[in-house]
This record gives sequence, C-alpha cells and structure tokens, in this order.
Amino acid sequence: MYILKFGGTSVGSAERMKALVHLISSPEEKIVVLSAMSGTTNALVEICNNLYNKESHKATELIHQLEKKYLQEIELLYSKPEFKTKSQDLITNHFNYLRSFTLDMFTQNEEKAILAQGELLSTAMFHFYLQEIGIASVLLPALNFMRIDENDEPQLDYIEKHLKEELEKYPNQKLFITQGYICRNIFGEIDNLKRGGSDYTASIIGAAIKAKEIQIWTDIDGMHNNDPRIVSKTHPIHELSFDEAAELAYFGAKILHPTCILPAQKRNIPVLLKNTMQPEALGTKISNINTEEGIRAIAAKDGICAINIKSARMLLAHGFLRAVFEIFERYKTSIDMITTSEIAVSLTIDNITHLNDIVTELEVFSNVEVELNQSIISIVGNLPKNKSGYGFKILESLKEIPLRMVSYGGSSNNVSVLVSSEYKKEALTALNKGLFGY
Ligand code: ASP
Ligand code: MG
Repeated sequence: MYILKFGGTSVGSAERMKALVHLISSPEEKIVVLSAMSGTTNALVEICNNLYNKESHKATELIHQLEKKYLQEIELLYSKPEFKTKSQDLITNHFNYLRSFTLDMFTQNEEKAILAQGELLSTAMFHFYLQEIGIASVLLPALNFMRIDENDEPQLDYIEKHLKEELEKYPNQKLFITQGYICRNIFGEIDNLKRGGSDYTASIIGAAIKAKEIQIWTDIDGMHNNDPRIVSKTHPIHELSFDEAAELAYFGAKILHPTCILPAQKRNIPVLLKNTMQPEALGTKISNINTEEGIRAIAAKDGICAINIKSARMLLAHGFLRAVFEIFERYKTSIDMITTSEIAVSLTIDNITHLNDIVTELEVFSNVEVELNQSIISIVGNLPKNKSGYGFKILESLKEIPLRMVSYGGSSNNVSVLVSSEYKKEALTALNKGLFGY
C-alpha cells in the first residue's frame, strides 16, 4: 500500500483536482490523503473567530462567500448533470451545517466541528469526480479511525485496528480517499491534528498500515539545501536520513510538517517528497539510510524569542536549571535552543503565549532579558562528532554577522545559530556561499 498526500493547493481548484487524476491512477493500492482546498481552513478559522466574538453578521457573510467559491468550483469540476446536482447538495448540506451554529452556545468543540468541514468537502468532491470519470474509489471517513489520546498524540494501535477494519470492507478496491487533519479525541468528539496536520495524517496512516512508502506531494521538487524564496541559487536534496529531515522540518523547511517524521521513522517507512507540477523530478527520499558525511542543508525559523536568565545564584549551584525548566514546563512552552555560562543561561521559545507569566516567575530568582524577532538558522547534515572543521566552516561563513547564540554538539545532525531576524537573509546568503559555493 502507498500513501499519497496532497495539500491545499493541489486540490485548490477544479483544475488542480482534475490534474491529480494522472498522479493517482497507477495500479498499486493506495490511500490518498487530501487537505482542504487552499484558503478554506483559514476562512473557517475566521468564521469561528466571528462566532466567538458574537459577530454573526460577519460570520454569515464569510460563510456565504466561501459557499459561493465552492459552487463556482463544482460548476467547473463536473460535466454531468447528475454529479452537478449531487455536489450541489453536498455543498448545501455542509454550508447549512455551518449556518446552524448559534452565537450564545459557541464552544471549542463546535469550533473543531467547523474546522473539519474543509477536508470533508474536498474529499467528497474529489470522490464524486472520480466517480464521474469512471475511476473506482472508496471514500474512507477519517473520523472512523483517526484518534488522538489525552495528550493529543495519535493512538497508533487504535488507528491500525480500525483502519484495517475499514479497508477489509472493500477487499477488491485499490484506491482509497481520506481526509487529512481531522480526527476524534479521547471523548469521541471531532478534533484535529493542528494546522498543517495533513502531512501528519499521511504519516500516521502509513505507519499504522506499514505502507511501502508515504508520498507528500507539494509544489516544489523536494527539500532544497537552502530557502529558495530567500537565496538566489539552491539545489534539491535527493536523500535525507530521518534525523536530518526532522531537524530541517522542525527548524523551518516549510515543505514538510515537523510532526510528520516520527511515525514514519518509528516503523521505518520511507517518506518521499514529490512535486505535483513536475512529477518526473526525483524529489527527496527520507529514510533510515546513513547519508554521506557532510553538510546537507540550511533552514531558518522566524518568530523566535530569546530569553536570557542571569542569576548570581547559578554560580556553583545545582537545581538552577531545573527551577528554570519547571516554569517552562508548567506553561507547556517548549524550549528550542539553549546556551549556558556559569552565571547565565540563554534559551529560545517560539510560542510566546505565556511569555509574561514565565518572565514574572523567572524574575523571582533572576534577572531576565527578552529579545523578540530572532531567527534560528540550522545547518543540518551528517556531522560526526569526531570530525574537525564543521564548526569552523560555519562560523567562518558567518563572520560578518552578529551571532546571538551558537549551539553545537546537541546532535551530530545539527548546528544552530540565533541571529536577529534582520540578519536572516544575509546569514542564509553567506552560508550558501561558504558551505555550498553559491
Ligand atoms: N487544512 C488544514 C490546514 O490548512 C490541514 C492541512 O492543510 O494540512 O491547516
Ligand atoms: Mg494547508
């Protein structure tokens, strides 16, 4: 079984949906995971915000606009009257459902039910389209098998069992369509895997049924050695280890959702990143190979907050770091980078929701300085700890750039530096030249 995931832009219009057909019509058995049409989830989030704010007029208007867009797309997608009618009914049902939410009773559960509509729509529309053109397929409801536990972690055993049961209902079918992103929680309520979670769905499904391969189809030909939107010359990387890919995805390579690596790695299922616009291009294969020694790629993550915590009490004191980390743990705020000296520690976070509370608690025993608008630049590859030269090469490339933090030795796959975001472009360009000769 192969898993093929297509994101919002790949199903973003009638034209793009039609173009998917030739990518999924090979004879192998496959499960196709789809996101919502691009823009839909954002619109649904906004509708929910309006409902929370008791602005029913705005919510109604947004629902109306979104419905109009869908009605236009289905006109272009189907040619037979039967399918036009069927899909109009589908759209009307889903949008009447959206209109049924009332302002005085709007809760998080209702928000999650609303956010699920995008994937329910895109998969049903695509399934109808395959029917219209005579391609046999089965629509598998993700809500029947995707489940997360009380920590929002996928319940792999549950998913494996229930997905198998679903698939066994159709022993002669080879093509299955299902929704990315949506799932149920421990209470059986509709929930989701967080924004951008369709990659995660694909990876969880791939792991659950021990697929041959998980393919993530996007609009670029795999991971590149640097951010092509920022530097002028880059090249695609054909092979990455799971560890390298996890570092790149977490530290900013937009092509793959960071959560996506773990389930695949756990069960050793290769992940292939492919380009819908250029299906013949090799893309990037992520697997448990030992990649060649060397630097493979650079990624940058913006919106980072650096916190410097200085305390005379840290000198020769044990328990200081525990006291610091405990505060972050209590506010469920994860730390990305850390550097220490004898009397101070600097660390970074990307979620500043609880920043004020965290700082207040840290100030009880230390002096705290906060710097916003920082970027983590990660240099990723296979960099054995017993080899010399990598640190030098990286820092030499960055010699003109003020470095706020440097983190070396945490793993043999990653060296990270923190710079003020105003230097990000310069840093990426300098590394591209120093490390790749561009
Ligand atoms: N539709 C969801 C989102 O936009 C999930 C996804 O696209 O992966 O966040
Ligand atoms: Mg999306």
